[in-house]
Amino acid sequence: MITRQFGIPVTSPGAILRREKDLGTPLGLETAETTQHGGLVSDKIIVQLIEDWLRLHGASGFVFDGFPRTLPQAESLESILKRLRTALDLAIWLEVSEQTVRDRISARLQCGGCGFTTSSSSAKFAERPICPYCDGPLVRRMDDDASVLQTRLQEFNSKTQPLASFYDKMSILHKIDGNRDRDAVFADISRRIEQKSPA
Ligand SMILES: [Zn+2]
Repeated sequence: MITRQFGIPVTSPGAILRREKDLGTPLGLETAETTQHGGLVSDKIIVQLIEDWLRLHGASGFVFDGFPRTLPQAESLESILKRLRTALDLAIWLEVSEQTVRDRISARLQCGGCGFTTSSSSAKFAERPICPYCDGPLVRRMDDDASVLQTRLQEFNSKTQPLASFYDKMSILHKIDGNRDRDAVFADISRRIEQKSPA
């Protein structure tokens, strides 16, 4: 799945993994099992999938959503980019409180057909939980249980938090207040990306 909302291809490990699962590849089925129980897919697998994707789609710019999430992933990404003779321009850090995370997760809906994610607080979908893109059913995600959330928060603190200083040292870290509504956050992200895009 590729979206081009910034004029350049955007992907996430989730989108790549969902595609593998939909295709029924052994890798896709194995990783679906892992994420369903709140675990993270191994760095080795994620990095391989990202490198394959970059070679296919990354020639004239790219945006990763939710990658890298760990220091080893970030270091592997640096090696991949070096091989491809390119570099990151920007690392956007969305700062959100734990309460914001809880509120949003408890309201999150996802399309069973195409993976589109929205919120049940979005009135339009609360009344009629049907995907605007493929007419699939919008349902609560399997991995949204409280215990899974706790595991995710712990993994964030131990594995993802160190990335802030990693990218700060490279002078490409930009922090954005992610507690605001999605339009305000999206506008901020778009502005940052446009400032870095070649004219
Ligand atoms: Zn859909």
